[in-house]
Amino acid sequence: MSDTHYHEIGELLPPQRLMLTPGPSCLDPRVYRAMAAPMVGHMDPWFTKMMDDVQELLRRVFQTHNRITFPLSASGSGGIEAAVMNAVDPGDECIVCVNGAFSERMAIIAERIPAKVIRVDAPYGRTVDPEDVRRAGKGRKIRFVGLAHGETSSGIVQRVRDYRKVADELGALLIVDAVATLAGIPLDVDKEKIDICFSGAQKAISAPPGMAPITVNSRVEEVMQARKEPVRSWYFDLTPAMSYWGKERLYHHTPPISLIYGMREALRAVLEEGLEARWERHASNQQALIAGVEAMGLEPFVSNPPDRLITVTAVNIPAGIDDVKVRKQLLDEFDIEIAGGFGPLKGKIWRVGLMGYSCQKPNVLTFLSALEKTLLDQGFRTSAGAGVGAAIGSYQQSTHHAAVGAKK
Ligand SMILES: *Cc1c(COP(=O)(O)O)cnc(C)c1O
Repeated sequence: MSDTHYHEIGELLPPQRLMLTPGPSCLDPRVYRAMAAPMVGHMDPWFTKMMDDVQELLRRVFQTHNRITFPLSASGSGGIEAAVMNAVDPGDECIVCVNGAFSERMAIIAERIPAKVIRVDAPYGRTVDPEDVRRAGKGRKIRFVGLAHGETSSGIVQRVRDYRKVADELGALLIVDAVATLAGIPLDVDKEKIDICFSGAQKAISAPPGMAPITVNSRVEEVMQARKEPVRSWYFDLTPAMSYWGKERLYHHTPPISLIYGMREALRAVLEEGLEARWERHASNQQALIAGVEAMGLEPFVSNPPDRLITVTAVNIPAGIDDVKVRKQLLDEFDIEIAGGFGPLKGKIWRVGLMGYSCQKPNVLTFLSALEKTLLDQGFRTSAGAGVGAAIGSYQQSTHHAAVGAKK
């Protein structure tokens, strides 16, 4: 007997949005095409061979030779969970640099192990002082120092090498959350001696959400082998997961086959463009965005320019302007999604993501003109065209610099 009511639930027809959020970012059409490829089994020899491609592509994007490098079947938060759970035994001491919601998530996960977590805080919008980390760890046996390379909740970036230095002094592992940064801004896992690094598929890589690429070096492998008890999470235990992603290809769990297709194509696009060209694209588009919002009379939340995360720009919401109304108008009238702040920054900032396939010149110019129209409608005083004009100026300047550079 057929269900007579199912017609009420119509065909799936999502709107065409321009996602300028801290993820998910828009997908290159070639990624959609890859995801529509035929399903195969996760033990099919064709698939297990194709897994090699994905791992090799990931090693190049992470810039590492680590054997353990693969996409976890989980969102970015699963990357935090796996990194932390495999690095510590219950009762171990660790330091987490907390300057926003995602680095705080790492601390919360470590506390649940339970590990003895020393939180070294900085206010939202500031970097954690490595000197504070040194002081907090002095004379203690610290298993790892953890931080968010790009803290998306406040739009801030931290210099990995500063924390590596302190972690070395403390004899600790270094865990870096690169969910918001990998393939968007410079990051070199081997050169920067990051012990565990993970990312998320849906940010600057521009693959569908649901996977967290992770890479772990031989130092961590030794720690994993010397564990006093098994990792308390069966799913996120990297040792059996690697018997599937390693040479043996032994079943562990069924991975998201179609998402892996999409990730493979997205990673191919990253390397086809070239990491440096990609970083440069992200930098120049953010420069234009910031020039635009400043010309409109708005100000970036992070006051020190070198601390600004290139992939996600936090902008202060001006006094008298309603956060939700602005975002609703951008969505309804222009099909553009940006994000608000959360936690202590709710209602205080907008977060504009320029990540991966979303990070394009036409999108920056479209967004700025949409924002101008929206803010004018909402009673904010600015002159129409000011933001777009400044962004154009910024692009012309960077083209000029590139042309001058090419002549040298
Ligand atoms: C988005 C993000 C996460 C969480 O990723 P999910 O895919 O939402 O689980 C973690 N860390 C950072 C820095 C992020 O930007």
